[in-house]
Amino acid sequence: MSSYYGKDFDHTCRYLIRNLNCKFPVKIRTVTTEQMKRLCKKAFAGEKDSTDPVYAICTFDETNTRVKSATIYIIRGLSVTFAEWQLVHELAHVIQKGGEKAPHGNAWGIAYSKLYKIYTGENGE
Ligand SMILES: [Zn+2]
Repeated sequence: MSSYYGKDFDHTCRYLIRNLNCKFPVKIRTVTTEQMKRLCKKAFAGEKDSTDPVYAICTFDETNTRVKSATIYIIRGLSVTFAEWQLVHELAHVIQKGGEKAPHGNAWGIAYSKLYKIYTGENGE
């Protein structure tokens, strides 16, 4: 059974996650607008401008010493391509986890660029 965004999206998810070389499992979930609002409330705790639309979010299940897993939540109702862009964006956060504090700093940018090349098949592999 394929997910909300269908077989091609699921294939992209598996392909990108395989290429992450991540030490912990990465799960992908699609959520309704209401569910996303609740997730954002929890994750940002009022520190983010709530008028910005959030299409995807990444959360980590972790102890003080290690990350047990990551879950990427993507809102429903996007085009498949746009949902995949959200996926690439959030996976860059997974790679960057434990690195720099700035959410979209240099380490994130490098991770994003690497992933985007894998996503478009321009990584020469
Ligand atoms: Zn981000």
